[in-house]
Amino acid sequence: MDQQRQLDVRLEPGGRAGGAVRHQALVREVNVQIVRLQLRNGDPGGRALVGLVCECGDAACLARIDVTPAAFDAARLDPTTFLVSLGHELRDGTEIVVAREAACLVVRKRGQAADDAVDAAAEIDVRRDGTH
Ligand SMILES: [Zn+2]
Repeated sequence: MDQQRQLDVRLEPGGRAGGAVRHQALVREVNVQIVRLQLRNGDPGGRALVGLVCECGDAACLARIDVTPAAFDAARLDPTTFLVSLGHELRDGTEIVVAREAACLVVRKRGQAADDAVDAAAEIDVRRDGTH
C-alpha cells in the first residue's frame, strides 16, 4: 500500500524541476509543429529563419527565438538540450550552455533535470504514438 502511494506521488507533475522540464518538453513539441509547417510551406532546405518559442522553463515566457530549422533539428535530437532566448539560461546548476546560435542559446540539462527531460520526451512520444 505504502509503495503504491509513493508511486502516485512520484507521478504527480507538482515537482518543481520536473514540472519546469515537462513544460520545456511541451514547448519543444509546439516548435516541432512550427518547423514542420515551415518546411511544408516551401523551405525544404531548412535555411530560412523560423520564429520559435523560447524553451526556457518559465511557463509565462513567450519570447521568440529565430533559428533555422536545421539548428532546431540538431538541438532536438538530444532530449536534454533546449533552445532558449539569450539570458534565459538557468544559472542554478541544472543546465549548462553548450552552444550559441545568432539569437539564442543551446542549453543542456544536467543530473536529475536531464533525467526529467528524457522522461518528459518519452511521455510525449507515447502520447503521439497513441494518436496515430
Ligand atoms: Zn524564455
